[in-house]
Amino acid sequence: MSNKAFSPTPLTLHPSTAKISEVFRSIQGEGPYAGVPQVFIRFFGCHMHCSWCDTPDSIGDGKRVYKEYTLPQLVRTVGPLAKDCHSVSLTGGEPLLQADFIKLLIPHLKKMGSKIYLETSGVLFKELKKVVGGVDIVAMDLKLPSSTRCRPFWEEHAEFLKIAKRKDCFIKTVISGETTREDVVRAARLVSAVAPRTFFVLQPNTFDLHNGAVGKCRDFQTVCLKYLSDVRILPQLHKFMKVR
Ligand code: SF4
Repeated sequence: MSNKAFSPTPLTLHPSTAKISEVFRSIQGEGPYAGVPQVFIRFFGCHMHCSWCDTPDSIGDGKRVYKEYTLPQLVRTVGPLAKDCHSVSLTGGEPLLQADFIKLLIPHLKKMGSKIYLETSGVLFKELKKVVGGVDIVAMDLKLPSSTRCRPFWEEHAEFLKIAKRKDCFIKTVISGETTREDVVRAARLVSAVAPRTFFVLQPNTFDLHNGAVGKCRDFQTVCLKYLSDVRILPQLHKFMKVR
């Protein structure tokens, strides 16, 4: 597959509306903020095709399950849900495909007193630049080609991290039964070169827990600790609790 940088097509023709798969309140299930209450705004559409995608209805292949929201409609929906929440998670799909809308949305969420938690594939660095000023926490994926079965995104991830590291940023990489040590070493070196103090999560693929992913995480943690100071193995908490 081609390794050239690519330009994804933004999903909103006019930034005053957005395609949203769902808005709901739950707990964060991944990474260092696991367990905090959040409002999730799941943006529709994704430019990736990860083999283990757990939100297939939001990626835009086949079924098109979304509702079009204007800015005031979305703010009115989020408002009552956000009371006493830790933050609002902008998730997907890939939220940054709708970065122009997010740029308009963030000030309204801030006015409610919400922190902004961005969950992203960690590739669309030009789009991140548009919104990063208003984002508090960046939950950045690092996509390993042997896990996703997509092309590598090393250069895009490095550019993305250079911007994201200005914020409270952590990295999550999904480890499947197929993930290679070579990819994990390359990822750890990449992070070490750009932002070596970044909190780094090895997340066993929930579908592969009994298929070698946990054992691989333990091996890869030792490998990653040669390059990075804080490497944790953390599963998806919400999947164990059977909540979305
Ligand atoms: S980046 Fe996320 S939403 Fe997109 S295909 Fe991968 S897992 Fe699914």
